Amino acid sequence: MDTTLTRSTSVAADVIRRGGLVAFPTETVYGLGADVFNADAVARIFEAKMRPADNPLIAHVGDLDQIGRLAETITPSAQKLIDAFFPAPLTIVLPKSDEVPPIATAGLETIGVRMPRHELAREFLKACGTPIVAPSANLSGRPSPTTWQAVEEDLNGRIDCILQGAATEIGLESTVVDCTGDHPVLLRAGAISLEELREIVPETSVYVSAGDEAVRSPGLKHRHYSPRAKVYLKDFPTSGRRAYIGLHEPEGNFAVVKVCRDAAEYAHELFAFFRECDRVGIEAICCETVEESGIGRALMDRLRRASEK
Ligand code: AMP
Ligand code: MG
Repeated sequence: MDTTLTRSTSVAADVIRRGGLVAFPTETVYGLGADVFNADAVARIFEAKMRPADNPLIAHVGDLDQIGRLAETITPSAQKLIDAFFPAPLTIVLPKSDEVPPIATAGLETIGVRMPRHELAREFLKACGTPIVAPSANLSGRPSPTTWQAVEEDLNGRIDCILQGAATEIGLESTVVDCTGDHPVLLRAGAISLEELREIVPETSVYVSAGDEAVRSPGLKHRHYSPRAKVYLKDFPTSGRRAYIGLHEPEGNFAVVKVCRDAAEYAHELFAFFRECDRVGIEAICCETVEESGIGRALMDRLRRASEK
């Protein structure tokens, strides 16, 4: 299949209406979208990404009214977070409506819903006129794409269209919060921080693994965000082709070095850095760890997952 490159949201929305797959930019990472109500199109997302069938997709909306078609109810805590943050890099998990085909949520009775704040994304979503399910637009297990070129690297010939925008602003996936119970539970850290969530709902807790990821948020159990090179957070190797990314100048010799001014820039650069390291044949990527507050919590989560393999 030929993958069309376009800057036009109406061209991209036409592809969606014909049941096709479109990669599009958001403020977090590029997503791979299909019409949530077209089960065949949704199935093709799993094929194109080689995504495990038990990993649910996030539904994206261009306006708040569309949430009513996706969710059976909007719980009081969800309503508070929606009012406070949407549009935002924040996904709210709610009880799913019967209209949503089971494949979109990997058989779960819940659905993750997000309204991106990225302008081009919202223009595209509005042009589609339907909610769009979209996981990150990478091959499963690879680092999420933060540029359209990274999407092309993984999915050229496997999807119908790439809506070309700029590099994404945040560079890490959305914060995911389960709002199906009495109080919100943070399932995945992201740019909307735990501190910010607690300002709105102080009872917000952090999901603690009890070996039930498969039930609560299947994506958490899958290997993620991995470059081919091995990722080290400590005990950096002293030989081999090494790269370094962090907030301070490293000691010693590295083939590729990226020093970021703060955690936000580190988050923004991380996945593109991983991909660059793979392109130039790095064997070991040495990553400085950061303090786990604000975006630092999300950054450390992705660094840990990348280093576990
Ligand atoms: P991705 O869009 O590729 O970053 O993956 C979406 C992730 O969001 C999944 O891997 C899950 O961890 C989480 N997620 C999506 N839908 C749900 C849901 N209904 N319940 C819990 N977690 C979800
Ligand atoms: Mg993903």
